[in-house]
Amino acid sequence: MVSWSCPYCGKAMYSAWDKHTDEVVICIHSDGIFKNPYYRGKEGENASISKLHRQQPRV
Ligand SMILES: [Zn+2]
Repeated sequence: MVSWSCPYCGKAMYSAWDKHTDEVVICIHSDGIFKNPYYRGKEGENASISKLHRQQPRV
């Protein structure tokens, strides 16, 4: 369970999960859009980055 406090209306919002794949959250009270402090990037993003850094073996 996580909570956000909306910078627009000041009300609290609760969710069963932290929506860490969503960069922004939308306030259910005022429809205000603000940055999600729990945002950690999309799933699998780190895996694709490490793949880019891995050198291809020379043939
Ligand atoms: Zn709000």
